[in-house]
Amino acid sequence: MQKNEIAVNYGKDAKKMVKELLAELKMEKGLKKDASIGLKPNLVVSKKASSGATTSPEIVEGVIEYLQEQGYSNITIMESSWIGDSTTKAFKVCGYEEISKKYNVPLLDLKKDKTKTIKIKELTLEVCASVHEVDFLINLPVLKGHCQTRMTCALKNMKGCIPDNEKRRYHTIGLHKPIAYLNKALKQDLTIVDGMMGDLTFEEGGTPVEMERIIIGKDPVLIDSYVAELMGYSIEDVDYINIAAELGVGSTDVANAIITEYGKENKNTIGIKDSNKVSRLAKHVVQKDACSACYGSLIHALQRLEDKGKLGRLKEKIYIGQAFQKESLEGLGIGLCTKEFSNNIMGCPPKAKDIVKYLEEKI
Ligand code: SF4
Repeated sequence: MQKNEIAVNYGKDAKKMVKELLAELKMEKGLKKDASIGLKPNLVVSKKASSGATTSPEIVEGVIEYLQEQGYSNITIMESSWIGDSTTKAFKVCGYEEISKKYNVPLLDLKKDKTKTIKIKELTLEVCASVHEVDFLINLPVLKGHCQTRMTCALKNMKGCIPDNEKRRYHTIGLHKPIAYLNKALKQDLTIVDGMMGDLTFEEGGTPVEMERIIIGKDPVLIDSYVAELMGYSIEDVDYINIAAELGVGSTDVANAIITEYGKENKNTIGIKDSNKVSRLAKHVVQKDACSACYGSLIHALQRLEDKGKLGRLKEKIYIGQAFQKESLEGLGIGLCTKEFSNNIMGCPPKAKDIVKYLEEKI
């Protein structure tokens, strides 16, 4: 896999999906069998992945199983929860203690790690030394919203690799710039995004939205650029992505990226109960047998419209779902299944950014 490539696998069985991707892409090619490998999930709070806040343990299990099957044994799961939450508690609540025992993989609470000072241009950063020292770092962020930076994924997940006093300082120096600089200081060799069920708006969960996909790539800037569009943002909306690109961490050129999709036939219809917020957005929608991947895009798009104060202008209902495949109704349909509607936004599933763009022009 080249740096300008992204692979996506759709479905419901996260462990199987991530193993399929790793077997297909052979991302470990060239890595010595005795290499030290760090796995960095997002365990920002002590809440299960079903809340939308944390990385699904099934994905981490799949990565460990795959690596161990390939003969790698020097694997460590490393994380530091946000200030005020205990990483040890998060490891337990989120199912990582069990993984550690089952696969004999140690858990490292980075709050207790030694630090290393790294200077990037005019900014001096303290990072957790163990993350800096691993031979191969696999970042496992969750695709989700963030109240200050709009979204959090590959680049921002690295904030769990710094001591708590640095986390506080980042907020005093604008958050976006230090996040971008941190990614110049700490290189992630592979990013595996948990896009199964991230939160719509908050990093601490509470409004989970099923998206049912795992996204893999080598360039965290490209991954975040792609994810921003899935969530209905323009790349320009998220400053740290652009600063990281200027620093040479990666590329924002999604238009010229090679994106390979697997498992499109595995898309499932919506499975979880909506939160109050999602239900409120869903009042604008008529859905019949919609895939989670499609419905999730629409919910993200409606949230972006609400953020911009434009949702109130939407007067007509929006149709989505496989049950509309043979119908040719007057109205707006989302996705390939509604291609016979008088107005339609194509894609299977479509990106939230395309839905936002269409609606902003029409309403
Ligand atoms: S267009 Fe239809 S089949 Fe494709 S993701 Fe949407 S609901 Fe599913």
